[in-house]
Amino acid sequence: MPSRNPTIKFTKLFINNEFVNAVSGKTFPTINPTNGKKIIDISEADKPDVDRAVCAAREAFKLGSTWRTMDASARGSLMNKFASLIERDLEYLASLETLDNGKPYTDSLFDIKCAIDVFRYYAGWCDKIHGHTIPVDGNFMTMTRKEPIGVVGAIIPWNYPILMMSWKLGPALATGCTMLLKPAEQTPLTALYLAALIKEAGFPPGVVNVLPGYGPTAGAAIASHCDINKVAFTGSTEVGKLIATAAGNSNLKRVSLELGGKSPLVIFDDCDLDEAVEIAHNAIFANHGQNCCAGSRTFVQEGIYDRFVKKAKDMAMARRVGDPFEEGTTQGPQIDETQFKKILDLIESGKREGAKLECGGSPAAEVGYFIKPTVFSNVSDKMRIAREEIFGPVQQIIKFRTLEEVIARANDTQYGLAAGIVTNNLDRALTFAQSVQAGSMWVNCYDIVIPQAPFGGFKRSGYGRELGEDSLKEYLEVKTITIKVPQKNS
Ligand code: ADP
Repeated sequence: MPSRNPTIKFTKLFINNEFVNAVSGKTFPTINPTNGKKIIDISEADKPDVDRAVCAAREAFKLGSTWRTMDASARGSLMNKFASLIERDLEYLASLETLDNGKPYTDSLFDIKCAIDVFRYYAGWCDKIHGHTIPVDGNFMTMTRKEPIGVVGAIIPWNYPILMMSWKLGPALATGCTMLLKPAEQTPLTALYLAALIKEAGFPPGVVNVLPGYGPTAGAAIASHCDINKVAFTGSTEVGKLIATAAGNSNLKRVSLELGGKSPLVIFDDCDLDEAVEIAHNAIFANHGQNCCAGSRTFVQEGIYDRFVKKAKDMAMARRVGDPFEEGTTQGPQIDETQFKKILDLIESGKREGAKLECGGSPAAEVGYFIKPTVFSNVSDKMRIAREEIFGPVQQIIKFRTLEEVIARANDTQYGLAAGIVTNNLDRALTFAQSVQAGSMWVNCYDIVIPQAPFGGFKRSGYGRELGEDSLKEYLEVKTITIKVPQKNS
């Protein structure tokens, strides 16, 4: 059962399996987006705390440590135990997530179940990560070893707090790395609770450290730290660039970046119209539009354009915006005042630049950061709402005629995270799938993100992959060992 007032047990930094105050003693408030009020004060990490956490993670990683000498299968067992503890506390965690983030309780439940799946998927990988033997020239035997990259700094966003934690922590633990993780300042609560479950599951001290704090302080200290081997980041393209620069200017740590998007979803007139409207609706309105792979440019072929717009508008107006703890609510508040204002500003730009506002376009309540589900038609490619990432419940419906034309227009963006097509014509679907510059491409569906399949961006949507086997490489070094042998093996 959901609880509107879940007891908050952990508010301090988690370093070396202990909850501790920040070195500075400073705290910061975490805010409830439903009413704009403070939930509680949280210890605020800064550079000295990052230094402490790096020391703990380094000690846990050192050769001969419990973590490094543990059998890989035992690491998998620990991860499965951790996943089971999350499952045990599912309803409490979902309440905490909804309180801090504002997403509907049922969405929090769904996210957490997905995170459990991610941890179990990577638990299975622990004892299946291995190198090769290679038939090299000469009297040598050569083999490769896949070794954990070392201490990983993870910096995650607020839109899917627990899920984003699982995308980083899953492969990091499976490969035998240690980690310090900075949750977004807007949503620190569930990360701290998961830290407690890490300890309860029996992970050795220092393997996982959680440091709530702000980006330009704690986040920047992670990105530029000379004793961190890799940074895994999810967030905006602007901050992604800062992180890549900091990594280059410090110790050339490895970097993986999962950044913004302005993803096209293309609907052809051979589709089942109602189904297409629903796919497009969910593609943009899921998680209140706060989704890096949101289908935020809905291209609709001209023959069905007017009918599509009408149905899309009806569907948007039927969304239930309100208290995220209430059953039946499909949209809660946006995360904070900054995002709320940014979305409203982009909506105003759409009106000014001549798009037709079909519905919404304004706040949905006097208190909290609620925005009415908004649909624009008559959107042209040059408008800000068609080019910039809005990260809100705002659908842009754009008209197109031909496949060739829509391929060029879909690719006319700095981003390349995702794309989709709805059509019953297989040739068309395949041509589009091969031509579009995007890391994920969905046909007759959208936003199908599953633990087994890689996810990540082309172009300014970032580099590196999360999930699937591909993500493991981001956390591994390859060591080549060559041994002289008396004569070449046959
Ligand atoms: P958003 O705009 O969606 O909030 P950000 O990219 O600003 O996304 O934030 C994503 C994560 O990056 C958060 O954990 C935030 O604290 C962190 N962050 C923000 N600025 C910096 C920075 N200069 N260096 C490192 N991390 C940062």
